[in-house]
Formats: sequence, C-alpha cells, structure tokens
Amino acid sequence: MEDTRELIEKYALQNAVKYKAAPNAGAVMGKLMGEHPELRARAKEVSPLVKEVLAEIEKTSPEEWQKRLEAIAPELIVELSIKKEPDKGLPALDGAEKGVVMRFAPNPNGPPTLGSARGIIVNSEYVKKYGGKFIIRFDDTDPVKKRPMPEAYGWYLEDCNWLDAKPDLVITASERIDRYYPIAEELIRRGGAYVCACPQAVFKEHKDKGIPCEHRDQSIDQNLELWKQMLDGRLAEGQAVLRVKTDMSHKDPAIRDWPAFRIVTTPHPLVGDKYRVWPLLDFESAVEDHLLGTTHILRGKDLADSGSRQRYLYQY
Ligand SMILES: [Zn+2]
Repeated sequence: MEDTRELIEKYALQNAVKYKAAPNAGAVMGKLMGEHPELRARAKEVSPLVKEVLAEIEKTSPEEWQKRLEAIAPELIVELSIKKEPDKGLPALDGAEKGVVMRFAPNPNGPPTLGSARGIIVNSEYVKKYGGKFIIRFDDTDPVKKRPMPEAYGWYLEDCNWLDAKPDLVITASERIDRYYPIAEELIRRGGAYVCACPQAVFKEHKDKGIPCEHRDQSIDQNLELWKQMLDGRLAEGQAVLRVKTDMSHKDPAIRDWPAFRIVTTPHPLVGDKYRVWPLLDFESAVEDHLLGTTHILRGKDLADSGSRQRYLYQY
C-alpha cells in the first residue's frame, strides 16, 4: 500500500502543479488507473487513500508542491512541459513505419536543462513507438567557446536513466575525429570545399557583399596541400579554415561558404592535444547523422539554418 500511496502523491502533485490548484480527486484517480491498470481491481481501497493524500497536499503551498514533485518525480514535471495534442500523444512521423534511428545530441558544456530533458524524452518516445535505435551523441568538438565539462557527460546519461530513456548507443564526437578527416579530404577532392586563409573580418566582408574570396578558385591539389598543412601544424591557429562551397550569393549570408573545420590548439578536456583541427557543429552533426543512419531529426528553431547549410554537404 506504501507504493500506491507514493504513486497517488506523485500524480496528485502533478495535477496540482499543472493547474496551480488543489489536486482534483477524479483526475488523480483517472491517471492512477490509466497508468496502473492492476490497481483497478482495488479501486475500493485506493479511493480513500487518494482522499487522504489529497487532504495532506491541500495543506501545503504551491511552492511546496513544485519542490516536492521535483524531488520525488522530476519526470512528471518534464511531462508537463511537453505540449501534447489532446489524446494524440506525439504527432506521427512520416516514413517511420519501418522503425527509426533518432538521436539527441547535446553539447555537454553545461548541465542538462529542461530543454534537454524534453529532447531526450521526445526522441526516445518515438523510438519506443516505432521501434529502432535511440542514440545519445555528444557534440563536443569546440574546446574553447563551448568547452565541454567532463562531469556533464555523465549527468546527461543519468538523466536518460531517470527519464526511462536508456540510449541504445552513446557516441562522443571528440573520440571520432579520425573518421571526419577522410570525409573532409574526399569533399576537397570532389571540389566541395577549399582552404580559406582570409582573416575573419576579410571573409566577412566578402560574405556580406556576396562575392567569392581569392581562395575559392584554388585547385584541388592546392587545397589538399593546404589541408595537410592545417593538420600537420605548418598552418597556425587562425591562419586557415576549411570552407564548404555553397553559393556566395545565397540570399541568407549564414549559408554562404560556411566553415567546416578550424585550427584549435587549446587542449580538449577529453582527448587533450590529440587533434589540432576541429570540425564545427554543422559539419560534425551532418556527418554523424549520415554515419549513424539517422532517419529523423527533431530540430529546434535555432538550428533551422543548420539544416540549410548541411544540405549542401549532402549534395557532394
Ligand atoms: Zn579566403
């Protein structure tokens, strides 16, 4: 009976937090029986227990409801933050009938947020619904501006556990840099990328005006040689980046010849100074989605540009 009492408390608090009012007995009973059909046969004993728990909760304040729910069932708070269509649950995914491969890809440069919890839940729920693979991928390839915190990797995985969203696969991008270099080289060979030695401000001017810089027309051999120099240290940090050739007159300047790799000599918290050329997120993410066979990507609005940039990569 102790367990049942705890369940009642969780659902009652969730109901109270959701409506910012004393919990509704009918709603709590409904949720309890819906989630735990085995209790239906015991409705007669459960009902007074619900009343008892509700009476106790009514004596406490909304702040205390929130705090207590955070302590005993944080997943129910997260559930509240996910706006569901009435009775429909998650909207259907196109082409998901044969199973899906979906990933949640945080940069572990800070602790998980409510937004991360949402990403973990929604992606893993789709995998549960359609079958397939749920992947956690740490996009941790920026050792400076978005420097990863070594302890944060574990925090994300702990969150997955308590959200009942255990990943089928955990990938750490900084440990897979060796896989990205040959792809960059192939991209250069296909004429899809060039090494640009423009100082940032100079390239920005070109980008804003929509005109190519002097490096855009280098030969493939020149680019391969310069790429080698980026990797072996003959080019220093800030001296060159590898750019993906898109369209210098694209209406959105953010799409124009975006950078895929840059030189960073600050040691990475996980892999140290093993690499000096690091992929930027657009490249890393596009390549990994391809390597991992990701079928569906749920993107925040902030990453909408990313999709447009990455489409150029897939064309080569
Ligand atoms: Zn240039």
